[in-house]
Amino acid sequence: MKKEDNKYTIPLSVLPFGHTDYQYVIGDSFFGERDYSEVQNGVVNLHLDVERMETMFILAFDFEGNVVLQCDRCGDDYNQPIEGSAKIYLKYDAANDNEDDDVIFITKNDSEFDLGDLIYEYITLSLPIHRVHENESECNREVLDMLYHADEDTDDGHDEETNTAWNEMMKQLKDKLDN
Ligand SMILES: [Zn+2]
Repeated sequence: MKKEDNKYTIPLSVLPFGHTDYQYVIGDSFFGERDYSEVQNGVVNLHLDVERMETMFILAFDFEGNVVLQCDRCGDDYNQPIEGSAKIYLKYDAANDNEDDDVIFITKNDSEFDLGDLIYEYITLSLPIHRVHENESECNREVLDMLYHADEDTDDGHDEETNTAWNEMMKQLKDKLDN
């Protein structure tokens, strides 16, 4: 578990000045470590460019891949292509503490920086609001048929049946009274 975490760590203190490239393949184990994650399976290729400067590090993320989500329409799992990019600044200068979303303050004592939570956040933000198979024809036909059929049955069908039984009972009662 700890080993997997270290995979997404930048060694701040020993990183050379200038650009350093990182290439990650994020897979099931990354998502599996996060029980709260809606995504539990997927493969995401992530390219990270870290630029070390005198007072800060600039981290540029670029990723694309596929994650498994549950279709809102039929409930089956499906592959959702995702992509995204993000930039974040790790700054030593905490005195200048503007509350900025893309700035994280670090100290000279921080020898490394764990990217895991950031990567998870970026992937989560890239998920679509509507999660459905791209074409309805890819959806689970049996489930859709059942859903549509269930609608007809519970609403109209059932009421009609009850009414028929009720009418029959009234008719019998009426006949009895008439005789
Ligand atoms: Zn579907």
